[in-house]
Amino acid sequence: MSVAAHTTPLLSRVVGYSVAIANNAGRIIRDIMKRGELGIVEKESARDLQTEADRAAQRSIITSLQKCFPKSTIIGEEGEDEVKDLSGQVFDPSSDSSSSSISSIACPPQLTTVAEEELVIWVDPLDGTAEYTQGLLDHVTVLIGIASGGKAVGGVIHQPYYNYQNPGAELGRTIWGIVGGSVGGMPIVAPPEGKVIVTTTRSHSSSTVNDAVAAVSPTEVLRVGGAGHKVMLLLEGKAHVYVFASPGCKKWDTCAPQAILEAAGGVLTDIKGDPIPYHATVAHRNSTGVLASAAGQDHQAFLAKIPQHVKDNLKA
Ligand code: AMP
Ligand code: MG
Ligand code: MG
Repeated sequence: MSVAAHTTPLLSRVVGYSVAIANNAGRIIRDIMKRGELGIVEKESARDLQTEADRAAQRSIITSLQKCFPKSTIIGEEGEDEVKDLSGQVFDPSSDSSSSSISSIACPPQLTTVAEEELVIWVDPLDGTAEYTQGLLDHVTVLIGIASGGKAVGGVIHQPYYNYQNPGAELGRTIWGIVGGSVGGMPIVAPPEGKVIVTTTRSHSSSTVNDAVAAVSPTEVLRVGGAGHKVMLLLEGKAHVYVFASPGCKKWDTCAPQAILEAAGGVLTDIKGDPIPYHATVAHRNSTGVLASAAGQDHQAFLAKIPQHVKDNLKA
């Protein structure tokens, strides 16, 4: 462990190590796709899939985080039964060059004293599983979100297949952020003025989902996979707002994206405008939907356009 690791705030260390841990999970996800043995199983429904990549990535992320931060609560998407073989999976992020710059991850004064036992770390080892199985590889992300006091305070989004259709370019990228601190890994870009580009689900639509999208009068709709990928579109100026009027997203889908988006000046709430809580004991499902807007957008104006029947359909 470097000297800087001991002098930087805990939250900066958790985010820095999560960058290396997510990058390692991305290598696991690519290796499994290369081998072509996806081991697909249905979880709650045919629209809720799990592959060997989800399982192996979660094993690696959880065991690594537990080793580094044993007093924190770590909650992963995949069930303990599916990932029960945890032997030999530990990846040591302190030995990885991608966590060497943790002293540059700024943490605001009010978060510098947060203790390890106060942190709840929400892990989505592979967001966009449906798209992964269909070969839409750039929709896939690895999400590690960090909460304190029930709020999303830090996060990492890794895109293992960024640039995969661009031979010669570096494969994969990782963005990180701490709310009130810093954001790194890619430039934040404002979406174009005079347009309303909405991003939403491509594989979990319903009439309520579509009614909410139509209500914000989009000039264009980007139907793509993954909560992480959609928030990346907001961060890179490709969409203005992410609208998902459905109870399908879970806390591990939104914690990391919310923290990074808010660190970059954007906003993420439920579809009624209420904050999403991230305590260790909270229900996993975001039953009242998700609405996220890019930095500089009028979040309240988008919320005001969501029809009452859509809000009424999404009960806490
Ligand atoms: P999507 O925007 O459809 O890619 O969904 C974003 C995240 O929420 C992914 O992790 C999905 O698996 C999850 N999700 C959304 N809707 C559902 C649903 N109806 N059933 C299961 N998971 C869902
Ligand atoms: Mg997910
Ligand atoms: Mg997942």
